[in-house]
Amino acid sequence: MKMDSQEELQHIAVVGAGLVGALEACLLAKKGYKVDVYDVRPDIRKMEHVAGRSINLAMSVRALTALKGIDLDEHIKNEYGIPMHSRMIHNKDGSKYGIPYGKKNECIYSVGRRYVNEILLNKGEEFSNITYHFNHKLVKADLNKPELTFSVDQHNQNEQITVNPDLIIGCDGAYSTVRKEMMRKPRFNYSQEYIPHAYMELSVPPVNDDFAMEKNYLHIWPRGQFMMIALPNQDKSFTLTLFMPTDTFSGIKNREDLLQFFQDNFRDSIDLIGEEKLVEDYFANPYLPLVSIKCKPYNVGATSVILGDAAHAMVPFYGQGMNCGMEDCIVLNDCFESEGSVSSALDKYTKVRNPDAEAMCDLALYNYVEMRDLVNKKTFLLRKKLDSLLHWMFPNFWVPLYTSVTFTRMRYHKCISNKAWQDSTLTWITTGGSIACLAAAIITARQNYNSINCLTMKFVDFVSNYIK
Ligand code: FAD
Repeated sequence: MKMDSQEELQHIAVVGAGLVGALEACLLAKKGYKVDVYDVRPDIRKMEHVAGRSINLAMSVRALTALKGIDLDEHIKNEYGIPMHSRMIHNKDGSKYGIPYGKKNECIYSVGRRYVNEILLNKGEEFSNITYHFNHKLVKADLNKPELTFSVDQHNQNEQITVNPDLIIGCDGAYSTVRKEMMRKPRFNYSQEYIPHAYMELSVPPVNDDFAMEKNYLHIWPRGQFMMIALPNQDKSFTLTLFMPTDTFSGIKNREDLLQFFQDNFRDSIDLIGEEKLVEDYFANPYLPLVSIKCKPYNVGATSVILGDAAHAMVPFYGQGMNCGMEDCIVLNDCFESEGSVSSALDKYTKVRNPDAEAMCDLALYNYVEMRDLVNKKTFLLRKKLDSLLHWMFPNFWVPLYTSVTFTRMRYHKCISNKAWQDSTLTWITTGGSIACLAAAIITARQNYNSINCLTMKFVDFVSNYIK
């Protein structure tokens, strides 16, 4: 980082010690900043059960590159993460088949949310310039001063404390309080969309101390209007996530409804989950909403900036929320490196990151249709085969959409424009193919027509001669 920024920033406050906040704190501390991290939750490392969203996540190159900055990537790749090389599609009749994600050596990793969060917090303990403040709920922020007011819950006592850092970094998730304060500022754009689908987590326990299904796959039961997926866990169980419209969830009212629904749609999963456990978990677990959030700008002058879900919550169908959030940390770091002041670094961060994060929110919504519906279609499979063939022939030139998003750090908005020209090329090839087929058909028909014509002429000649 340039000295100007270093001098300007004596003290940074990171709000949120989740996946993005805990990482960002480490990266800043590594640069020598004094960082205070605040989170509303108690220290999760000391909790028996951590309530909250998805138990496991798919981690790919963007998050891994960010983790490389604090030497945690190799641990995920070689020791902890479970590699998933392919999707495993489960048909209604119980048959299944694999569709690889990319080339032989390309895979995504199934990781536990809690575990990754804990190793990031542990890493932070290695830096003497990071201080954690758990049980601190941000209730108010004055982004001009800047000033943060926390409600602190300790020993059954509640008090409010106020701090005045030089820079506020909001990593406080999809319902961010820092972002709410930004919304009071003029010219702040904000939009959110709840999709009609919600999600519920179920699980498949191990069988004979082993995985009950093929381990190195992301299992998918695509059913058009709804779907279920499963990711492997370290303890040899699978976490299943059922995505369905809220009406479908609420329409299942009792044991009979549920078992009939699973019989009709996910028959092979009933024995895997266990009938009793399925009924118990389904009626005990809540179904949770899925929201997509876009906003701009991500900073207020030189005093505050938002990263991760606080800036761009997305539906989980591309498995990119955490990946994108962790990549935010790299982009912010690069902006500090290249710019001479905090204000221009944060302005640049908004300028560079916003089109990419919004592109990723759109791609996640697109994959929502692909996963639950398109993977079942012959045209989709044909497209995947064509994509793989062209990628194999021209590895640097033809990079399929999924590969560019998941296995490269191509800017997300470029991934979209890349797909757009590939689509037109394929349309051109297939239209060209259709025209060639049509031309061949016409030529054949003409030849046949000529021969038919010839025969007709001969027949007419014959009849005329005969009559004569
Ligand atoms: P969070 O993880 O939400 O962390 C926010 C932190 O801020 C929390 O610790 C919270 O306690 C704290 N906080 C909140 N409010 C306050 C406050 N007022 N004061 C103080 N602290 C506060 N992403 C992937 O990359 N791959 C996947 O496979 C994937 N699967 C997903 C599946 C599901 C079902 C869902 C819902 C999401 C999935 N995601 C996935 C997305 C991923 O979970 C998020 O993008 C990621 O957690 C964002 O991290 P974050 O640190 O920005 O926010």
